Amino acid sequence: MRIKTRLIHGGIEGDPNTGAVSVPIYQVSTYKQEAIGVHKGFEYSRTGNPTRHALETYIAELEGGARGFAFGSGMAALSTILSLFNKGDHLVVGDDVYGGTYRVITRVFSRLGLEATYVDTSDLKAVEAAIRPETKAIVMETPTNPLLKVSDISALADIAKSKNVLLVVDNTFMTPYWQNPLDLGADIVFHSATKYLGGHSDVVAGLVVVKDAQLGEEMHYVQNAIGGVLGPQDSWLLLRGMKTLGLRMEEHEHNARTLAKWLSERSDIKRVIYPGLSGHSGHELIQKQARGFGGMISFDVGSAERADEVLAKVKYFTLAESLGAVESLISVPARMTHASIPAERRAELGISDGLVRISVGIEDVQDLIEDLEQALS
Ligand SMILES: *Cc1c(COP(=O)(O)O)cnc(C)c1O
Repeated sequence: MRIKTRLIHGGIEGDPNTGAVSVPIYQVSTYKQEAIGVHKGFEYSRTGNPTRHALETYIAELEGGARGFAFGSGMAALSTILSLFNKGDHLVVGDDVYGGTYRVITRVFSRLGLEATYVDTSDLKAVEAAIRPETKAIVMETPTNPLLKVSDISALADIAKSKNVLLVVDNTFMTPYWQNPLDLGADIVFHSATKYLGGHSDVVAGLVVVKDAQLGEEMHYVQNAIGGVLGPQDSWLLLRGMKTLGLRMEEHEHNARTLAKWLSERSDIKRVIYPGLSGHSGHELIQKQARGFGGMISFDVGSAERADEVLAKVKYFTLAESLGAVESLISVPARMTHASIPAERRAELGISDGLVRISVGIEDVQDLIEDLEQALS
């Protein structure tokens, strides 16, 4: 089955009891047992719920793993993954991962004795050098936010295998439509399903898929023990949203490519960052490991003042955090998502005050161009 067909027919289809084509919302907490321990596979909805199970089966199939898990947010998903580790264990983490990922590792799991070293995961030697005897996992994102840096998933998987550590990939930006980290050798893939998978700015959720069944057992143990599970209504919303993932991602990307090219031809833009542009440092690599370039673009308008002007003038780009929805969103990382990073560190990373990030929606791209044109001039 090809990916577009898998998005429609993958996982559990409909309801065998009634013939309903859509998986029903099982709004239920507990299940009748015929005798003690004799049941139809569900006992209590923290442990398992049929609507959530349909979503978990679906994402596992889309990512090509043994088992999937759904959580109340991307951060709940990651926190549950981190709960696989013990006091004294060490992680090697990408140095420009999502701010919330950095926060939960440095401010919360550090208290429980989990240690971490931050490195540029596009530098394989740096990753290898950071691995210690206590290292249990490499945690990474590709492409990153907002600089869209690309790291080599297969090469990192080789390093992880040789050192006997897990490779954990945040696949939020690419989605399984464009990139399948487990096929490239990763052990665990996770998503903020709040973004492209949900796609409609109406649900907060997280998904995890693990490569092998043994790790699946361990993940289910911590998922059930901690209990940060996704409810049946939101599981259904995700199942519904993901049916159109293929259509949406094609359109996001078509619009992003068109806008990136248009922006890069303007003399009043200092820098355009999009992995689909031939000048991007990860342009070759991303084509090796992914089927598309995604829908995120960052560009430098020169100054914080000009960024403010652009933000004030745009009509179709909503000023908001988050990304990946049908509507175009615009933000200034230095003063929004990355404001907690010290100014010197931001400068080192290349997150300048005039850097604008857009999550390109699926509006008519001509309207988006005209809107940016009037906002920039
Ligand atoms: C949003 C985001 C997260 C966190 O997900 P939530 O659903 O907001 O908890 C993690 N990683 C990336 C790349 C994200 O964009």
